Order: sequence, then structure tokens, then C-alpha cells
Amino acid sequence: MAAEQAFVTLTTNDSYARGAMVLGKSLRNHKTSKKLVVLIGPHVSNQTRAVLHKIFDEVRVVDVLNSGDTATLTMMKRPDLGVTFTTLHCWTLTHYSKSVFMDADKLVVSNIDELFDREELSATPDPGWPDCFNSGLFVFCPSNETYSKLLKYCKEHGSFDGGDQGVLNGFFSDWTTADINKHLPFIYNMSSIAIYTYLPAFKQFGANAKVVHFLGEMKPWSYTYNLTQGRLRGDVQASSQPGFLLQWWALYSAEVLPALIREYGDQRFDS
Ligand code: UDP
Ligand code: MN
Repeated sequence: MAAEQAFVTLTTNDSYARGAMVLGKSLRNHKTSKKLVVLIGPHVSNQTRAVLHKIFDEVRVVDVLNSGDTATLTMMKRPDLGVTFTTLHCWTLTHYSKSVFMDADKLVVSNIDELFDREELSATPDPGWPDCFNSGLFVFCPSNETYSKLLKYCKEHGSFDGGDQGVLNGFFSDWTTADINKHLPFIYNMSSIAIYTYLPAFKQFGANAKVVHFLGEMKPWSYTYNLTQGRLRGDVQASSQPGFLLQWWALYSAEVLPALIREYGDQRFDS
């Protein structure tokens, strides 16, 4: 059996890749002992790939439409589930015994290697419907058998929300009640939504956050940042948490942007 363990993220384009780069850097800065893997879509540019290679141990191109017979067949029946299939690909990383999948829109603010003590499928409650888990972070065990079963499940049942979260909650439906050890504390996937849905709890526990999830339409890279003043430009939405956004931008501008500028050979990323 494979001995290594890895954090895995995903980006299908150059924008989410900026998130993946910050995520990767934040994991390294907090001294993870695990491998870092990024799954990329075929449209990610060569320059972006070069920067990803500097941060991640493995950069793997996943092209759903060319990913083998079973996936292709399933895909043809359910073309709406495109991005979902890309996430499910993480089960094919069978050279790792255990992995933690993380969305690219996350910032790690503390070492989280202890997550590898958990079993498949461990995840945090979704802030919108806590009987479902949020698929932005989950512990899983790569396995071709599970991958086939997931594809089969997809083909037969689809996704109740049209995305990977619906498929995974359907497939791992006993998560809700079977084993409390598979319920990860919210601090491993703290979304800024909690700031306005339960402000007193955020004030009480927010400082314990280990992973911040920039869930929703506005991603950190959707804002512009004044590099010399170290400030976000324009209106920062009330729903976002400027403190964490600033942390994201500080890391991005110090450790990611220089590499992007070097690769692209111009200032197009300088906002
Ligand atoms: N993603 C991607 N390209 C896209 C949309 C999503 O690569 O065009 C990946 C990325 O890793 C992202 C994850 O899928 O973090 C889930 O999407 P998102 O974080 O936007 O959803 P939310 O957490 O806001 O519900
Ligand atoms: Mn997300």
C-alpha cells in the first residue's frame, strides 16, 4: 500500500490557480510534512503551470473528457456534471494512502497535518445545511474501486445540487449520523459566512480558525490591492472578513506575485 500522504487541490483556470498558489504557500509556511498536489484543467496556461510547479510536488492535468472509458461514458450521459467529475478525480491518486482535498479558495493559518489521523470521509458541516458536509475540505483515501463506485453513483443519481457537494453527500450519506469522529470542527473550514450568520460565535471562536474558506462569489483575487499601501482597493463587501483577506493578499503579494511576474515577464498581475 502507498505510504505517502498528500494535500490535494484543484484549479481549472488561471484565476483559481492564484488561490491554489496561496493555499500551497500557506501549507508550506506552516510546515506541513505532507506532499502537495494540484489537479489542473487543460486550459491552465504554461506560465501558471510553471509557478504551480515551484510550489507543488505534483501538478497533474486532468481532462475529464479524455479521462478513460468509464468517466467519458458517464460524462456523456450527464454533461452538466463537468466540474464535479474533475473533483472526483482525486480518488485516482492511488500513490497516496490518504489525502485531504481542499478548495483553492482557502488560506491555512496553522499546521493541520493532524487531519490525516481522521478517516474517509471526514469533513466539516456545511454552514447552509449542517446535516450535509461542505465539500471544500475532506479527508479521503484514494482508491480506484471507490472512484468507479462514485462514477456509477453519479450516473445513476446525479447530484442534488448540480455540483460535487451533492454527489459526495449522496454517496457518503451516512456522514450525518454514523460517526462523530468524521465530523471535523468548523475551524478547519471556517467560511466568512459565519461572520454575519453568527457574529458572537465568530468573535468567540474565530481566532481559533486553522483554515479560512473564502466561500461564495467574491474570491480574494476578485479584489484589487494597493501594493504600496498594503490595502484593498474600493468597496470591501460587508460579508467578507477584511482581516483574512488582507492576510491572503499579504502572502500573495510577497510570495506568489514575484514568481508570476518573473514567469509572465511583465506587470499584468500587479494590481
Ligand atoms: N474550481 C475551479 N474552477 C472553477 C470553479 C471551481 O477550479 O471555475 C474549483 C476550485 O478548486 C474551487 C472549487 O472548485 O475552490 C469549488 O468552487 P468554489 O470554491 O468557487 O465554490 P464555493 O466554495 O464558493 O462554493
Ligand atoms: Mn470554495
